[in-house]
Amino acid sequence: MRSLFASALVIAAGLGIAGAPAQTSDQIETRLAAAKAAAGFDFTGTLARLCVAPQTAPGRDVAPSPPPARETWYIDPAKVFDNLYFVGTKYHSSWALISSEGIILIDTLFDYAAEEAIVGGLRKLGLDPASVKYVIISHAHRDHDGGAKLMQDHYGSRIVLGEGDWEMIEKSVNQYPHGKPKRDIVAMDGQKITVGDASVTIVLTPGHTPGTLSMLFQVKDHGRPLTVAYSGGTAFNFINDVAHFDIYIASQRKIAAAAANAIVLMSNHSEFDNAVTKIKMMAARKPGEPHPFDLGADAVARYFKVTDECAQVARLKLLPKS
Ligand SMILES: [Zn+2]
Repeated sequence: MRSLFASALVIAAGLGIAGAPAQTSDQIETRLAAAKAAAGFDFTGTLARLCVAPQTAPGRDVAPSPPPARETWYIDPAKVFDNLYFVGTKYHSSWALISSEGIILIDTLFDYAAEEAIVGGLRKLGLDPASVKYVIISHAHRDHDGGAKLMQDHYGSRIVLGEGDWEMIEKSVNQYPHGKPKRDIVAMDGQKITVGDASVTIVLTPGHTPGTLSMLFQVKDHGRPLTVAYSGGTAFNFINDVAHFDIYIASQRKIAAAAANAIVLMSNHSEFDNAVTKIKMMAARKPGEPHPFDLGADAVARYFKVTDECAQVARLKLLPKS
């Protein structure tokens, strides 16, 4: 393999090609155009982060910065569907899926926001944080797992994470100065996390992190059921080599296929799914108008086309140059 690679370089050098081979440049342009077309005006944030100005390396295992001022992140909690409540911040999402038997919480923000946004937010909405039976963490980055220990320690919530991401937490030396959540449930592909009539199906989508979890679940809008596809990891802040992009791309195709019936697309960053803007839009919704999160199956498919095509662009840029 190595010698084949070396031969390709020699041939390319012999032909006097500078920069990326013309064929690769064309492929990059084609993929970029496909990503832009798929994004339309629905997913400009995702397009910008993945295709225009992508991250190219993982973050380091360093202690968290001091918390930012409250007014930079705080936003009121909101009821978004009959059975789904937003308890996130201006930038990050945390969702409470409710049932008669208790709550499934999805993602837990940075630790500085968890107490007020999640615990305080649930109380403001008339919900009891002690009824959170499960906390599903899409992946073990600090902007999503910050409240896991709080929920585990104070409310006895069971914590669900992918195997690779439990390992990330356990290996981290500096990122959890206030303590780490203790290893609990290791998510399996296709696993259902169920509380009463609320159920979340886990889809393992490694790439963003080794154990990234995406999810499928059902919400109701005035009784009408809608299937949600929840994309658990998006940006390219992982080791940027072909092998990692191959894993990421395979996962995007896997969740896209699993999400064929989904008409709502959610992410854990408002930057990617415009959650906070859509929640604001709900105040202007008139009877009979569509729910702001009801994008339709075509748009959900286009979202995963954006992540797939942008990853292809980044992967093509890694291929040998002369
Ligand atoms: Zn992340």
